[in-house]
Amino acid sequence: MSSTYQTYLGQGLTRSLVAMRAQEGSTRTVGYILLQLLYDLIGPDQVFDRLLKGPTDDVWLNPWVDYLQRRGVVFHTAVQVNGFELDGGRVCPVQATENGNPFQIAASYYIAAMPVDVMSTLLTPALKAAAPSLANLDRLQTRWMNGIQFYLRRDVPLVRGHAIYLDSPWALTSVSQRQFWTGVDLSSFGDGTVGGILSVDISEWEQPGVLYDKPAMQCTATEIKEEVWTQLKQHLNVAGGIQLDDVDLETWFLDPDIQFPNPTLVTNLEPLLVNTAGSLQYRPEAQIEIPNLFLASDYVRTYTDLATMEGANEAARRELPLARSRVHRTTRATLAPHRTRIPQASSRNRPHPVCSGAAPSPGVIIRATDPIPPVCSSLRLAFTLWSPRHSSLHGPARPKP
Ligand SMILES: Cc1cc2nc3c(=O)[nH]c(=O)nc-3n(C[C@H](O)[C@H](O)[C@H](O)COP(=O)(O)OP(=O)(O)OC[C@H]3O[C@@H](n4cnc5c(N)ncnc54)[C@H](O)[C@@H]3O)c2cc1C
Repeated sequence: MSSTYQTYLGQGLTRSLVAMRAQEGSTRTVGYILLQLLYDLIGPDQVFDRLLKGPTDDVWLNPWVDYLQRRGVVFHTAVQVNGFELDGGRVCPVQATENGNPFQIAASYYIAAMPVDVMSTLLTPALKAAAPSLANLDRLQTRWMNGIQFYLRRDVPLVRGHAIYLDSPWALTSVSQRQFWTGVDLSSFGDGTVGGILSVDISEWEQPGVLYDKPAMQCTATEIKEEVWTQLKQHLNVAGGIQLDDVDLETWFLDPDIQFPNPTLVTNLEPLLVNTAGSLQYRPEAQIEIPNLFLASDYVRTYTDLATMEGANEAARRELPLARSRVHRTTRATLAPHRTRIPQASSRNRPHPVCSGAAPSPGVIIRATDPIPPVCSSLRLAFTLWSPRHSSLHGPARPKP
């Protein structure tokens, strides 16, 4: 294979898009994804890349939260799940803490939607014995992939889509967001001086950069910012042109999941699952051997096959009919969580009626027949690869429909 092939197709795309090294990636996953991307390029819709039309919270997550709350769903955002207990082959209760206070969640059915690096630490020998398909979760691998945003005094659209800085040492990709955020008035944010936002993902955290000769994992927040900014400029300011100028940089924001207890011991609270060769066998289905526990996360086996929001969504859609059919065999089914909180001290050593199946439990009801709220429209985008050696390798810029 030529070095250009390796740079662009062998290594660049997998590393930059899914934080996976070509040498260890699953051919099945990478092959399917590449085929899907190519198919989308030549398909009649020519939709290759989709972006939200505003900040994710505003146009996607908050509308869903509002909708679900209107339907009676109650979110407990300060709850941390610490363990599953088994009772007669079923899970019940779940051990948790809320604001540091331990309690138990007793329910008829549970849906676990925690990331694989958390879920794998909650598996006891008893749980693995009851659900052998969970036994190898700790063999799945994660990598760091996190973002930094640059707030610019003037807008720098760059390209109408994602840009991949193929041979940047830190495997950078970016989106210049203002052009897609139709209806969002940037002057209403902060002190009103921000003209554009360049959102950058860093997919390689273990290779040295160009400025400090250190991997991102060992850099301070400021060093990460300086390094990323420099690598972007190396790719964009070529052939005498200046697309990124230091004077345009108003401020920046690094993903708070990157924690700095010590500049050389940076911690990432949310690493990303990578599909390494042979890992499919370790990934469970949405329905596992324990009849009242379902999975709805990106590590579940799905057709999407990649750790994405779409993959997690597909897992949830796979699990939903299973859960529904078990909870009530009617069309207007009731879905978990039917849950009851049991104070830790009073519940020790005796089964809760919900766990033993003796009592109906109050719960949150989601009916399958409910209409799904409109979320947002997506945009058709171009796709551009940037390289310092080849100042721009454009995919065809398609007009917005
Ligand atoms: C930088 C970056 C960019 C990405 N870009 C894209 C993209 O453009 N498109 C795309 O589709 N995907 C993208 N992804 C991947 C996508 O974000 C994930 O695959 C997706 O969010 C997985 O969804 P999930 O519901 O399985 O897990 P998460 O979204 O990780 O949700 C898990 C939840 O569990 C909670 N939790 C963790 N531990 C506990 C505990 N002990 N008790 C209770 N709750 C707990 C967490 O707080 C979190 O809310 C990106 C990922 C990264 C890191």
